[in-house]
Amino acid sequence: MRKPTRQQLLRLEVVRTEQISAHWMRVTLGGGQSALFEPMGFDQWFRLFIPAAATDDAREALDRVPANANKTMGYFKFLATIPQSVRPIMRNYSVRAFRPADLTAGRTAEIDVDFVLHGSAEDGTAGPASTWAQNCQPGDPVALIDEGIVFNPEQGTDRVLLVSDETGLPAISSICESLPADAVGTVIAEVPAAGDALDFAHPAGVDVRWVVRETSDDPHVKPGTLALAALREIEVPAPPVHAFIVGEQALPTSARRHLVEAGVPKEHISFVGYWRMPAKQK
Ligand SMILES: Cc1cc2nc3c(=O)[nH]c(=O)nc-3n(C[C@H](O)[C@H](O)[C@H](O)COP(=O)(O)OP(=O)(O)OC[C@H]3O[C@@H](n4cnc5c(N)ncnc54)[C@H](O)[C@@H]3O)c2cc1C
Repeated sequence: MRKPTRQQLLRLEVVRTEQISAHWMRVTLGGGQSALFEPMGFDQWFRLFIPAAATDDAREALDRVPANANKTMGYFKFLATIPQSVRPIMRNYSVRAFRPADLTAGRTAEIDVDFVLHGSAEDGTAGPASTWAQNCQPGDPVALIDEGIVFNPEQGTDRVLLVSDETGLPAISSICESLPADAVGTVIAEVPAAGDALDFAHPAGVDVRWVVRETSDDPHVKPGTLALAALREIEVPAPPVHAFIVGEQALPTSARRHLVEAGVPKEHISFVGYWRMPAKQK
């Protein structure tokens, strides 16, 4: 992990939204304290706080989020001082793109966040962040705390192996855009449907392999399963290689085991469970 030099709670607002494919909603955040955000590239991620409901009380509760709500003591305070009915929803998201302020164009700094649209709001399987992304409007308030990057450039940036389900696609896309132009390697990215394979800039020597589930309406098909199978089919690059594996919990843990058994040193594998499928659905 590489932490940002200054970790602070920043208040921003929704600038615009764009549904970019069946399962992706891009929410652009800006205004407020966006000028204080320090972009780090790679898989920079942050704690996002969104209102618990579209009411004035819930929006005002964002003002009561402690600046250290991402730390144990601050999180206890967050739980203890804000009633559950209005307590903001806290989730983790990646910076898909950052644009500094353009004062001549009258634009504040902006952060694009790509939300996976999962489940269905009707049967309650969607999750508050996914539902919020679909319904938020320009001017809606949010807060965030920057958490820095997990991909550690000190472990090498010239030879990479990047594997994820759809939740890791924003991170993997941004990592590829941060790599040196002569980097080589492989990306294995699983997405729910062919239209969700959002193109991204990458060095010419990085081979991008899309794995498409095409079973996005079946809640029993666990995201990440096909990416893992695709990883098992390729020849694991000989060290030195820097691997980054994220997605539904089972993908990073199983993929890491596979790479370690194939001889990749543990310290050259960055891996994070981005979310967990409930046991009854598996
Ligand atoms: C460091 C980090 C960076 C991340 N970056 C991104 C990002 O840029 N974009 C992004 O979309 N996600 C990202 N995630 C994953 C995101 O935080 C989770 O998917 C989160 O659980 C979504 O919150 P929710 O309120 O929609 O659903 P929750 O309330 O957390 O979950 C509700 C139900 O939905 C299920 N669920 C959660 N996420 C998914 C999913 N993607 N597909 C299917 N079922 C799901 C849960 O298992 C649960 O049953 C990141 C996670 C981490 C740790």
